[in-house]
Amino acid sequence: MLKNSPNALLNKSIFQHYLTLPVPDDKCQATYLWIDGTGENIRCKTRTLDFIPKKPDELPVWNYDGSSTYQAEGANSDTYLMPVAIYKDPFLRGNSKLVICDAYKYNKKPTETNKRHSCLQAMLAAKDHHPWFGIEQEYTLLDMDLRPLGWPKNGFPGPQGPYYCGVGANKVYARDIVEAHYRCCLYAGINISGTNAEVMPAQWEYQVGPCEGIDIGDQLWVSRYILQRVAEDFGVIVTFDPKPMEGDWNGAGAHTNFSTKAMSEIEKAIDKLSRNHLRHIQAYDPKQGKDNERRLTGRHETSSIHDFSAGVANRGASIRIPRGCAEEKKGYLEDRRPASNCDPYSVCEAIVRTCILDE
Ligand code: ADP
Ligand code: MN
Ligand code: MN
Ligand code: MN
Ligand code: MN
Repeated sequence: MLKNSPNALLNKSIFQHYLTLPVPDDKCQATYLWIDGTGENIRCKTRTLDFIPKKPDELPVWNYDGSSTYQAEGANSDTYLMPVAIYKDPFLRGNSKLVICDAYKYNKKPTETNKRHSCLQAMLAAKDHHPWFGIEQEYTLLDMDLRPLGWPKNGFPGPQGPYYCGVGANKVYARDIVEAHYRCCLYAGINISGTNAEVMPAQWEYQVGPCEGIDIGDQLWVSRYILQRVAEDFGVIVTFDPKPMEGDWNGAGAHTNFSTKAMSEIEKAIDKLSRNHLRHIQAYDPKQGKDNERRLTGRHETSSIHDFSAGVANRGASIRIPRGCAEEKKGYLEDRRPASNCDPYSVCEAIVRTCILDE
C-alpha cells in the first residue's frame, strides 16, 4: 500500500524545519480556492499580502488562466477570482489564510460552474426565514491505483456489516486522515459537527453545520479542500464519486438537513419537495442527475431516482424525518438525494427556492 505514492514517500519530518522558520509577521500567505470547470474539483494558488486580512472585501480581486481549468478559451483566458470568505490556514498556519472565491468570466458574468452567484440571490431573498443547513459529506479513500484504500488488490473485502462506525485495523482504513481533517477544520473555523466510518470499507463521513444561508456552501467547499489537502500529505486519493464501486457496496451521498426558524411547516416543505422532484434531482449532482443514477437505485439505503418518497426514520426514502423531530412536530428534514459530489450551492438553492420562495 502507498508504495507508488510520491507524496507518501517524502519524509514529512524534514518539512517541519521549513514550516517553523520565522517569517515576517506583517505578511500573510493567502491561498485562494475556487471551483474549476468540472464543477467538482477545487483549484488553488497562493500569494503574499502585506497586511493581515480580517474580512473578504479587504482582499484583492485576483485572476487565473481559465483555459487551463476548462473555463475559458486560450485567447481570452483571464478569469476573475472574487474573495467571498476567509478561514485560518491549517497547513501553513501563522497568519496564513484560506480564501474561498467565486469565479467570473472576462465579461464579469459568473462562470458556468459558479453556482454561488444565484444561490446567494436565493439566500438573500429567504434571509428572514433563517434557513439552516447541515450536510453529511460522504467520501471514499483510494490508493494510487484508484482501488479503495486497504482493499485486497485481487479481490474484495468481506461483505458490508462490520465497517459502519467500525473500530480496528481490519474494519477501517486511514483514520489518521479523518482525525487530521477534523482537527484542521476546527482550526480553520469550519463548523464541523462530527465524523464516522461508513458502511463500505474505506468510506467515511463528516458533517458540516448547522450553517445559515450561503455559509453552508462556502464552508463545505473549504472542508473538501482541506480533506483533499490532508489526504495529499498522506499520499492517498479522495474521491467524491457517488458510486465508486459497483455491486453490493453502498454509494456516497451528501444528505442535506434543512430547517427554518418556524419549521412547524415541515409537512408543507415536504409537500412542496414532492411536487419538484425533477428540479431537485437535476440540482443534486454536477451532471443533472447522471451521476446519481448509479447511486439512487432504491437499494443500499437509497430511494429510486424516479420516485419521491418521505418517511419517519426511513433510510430508503428521498426525505427522512428524524424520529425525534416527528415526535416534537418541529425540527428539520433530511434530503437524502444529493450525491456526494454535488455542489452544495446548487442543492441549497433548490431547497430554498422550492420550500421558502415557492418558485
Ligand atoms: P444522520 O442521523 O442522518 O447520520 P448526522 O448526525 O450525520 O445525521 O448529521 C446531521 C446534520 O444535521 C449535522 O450536520 C447537524 O449539524 C445538522 N442539523 C442539526 N440540526 C439541524 C437543523 N435544525 N437544521 C439543519 N441542520 C441541522
Ligand atoms: Mn504564471
Ligand atoms: Mn450521518
Ligand atoms: Mn452516512
Ligand atoms: Mn444522514
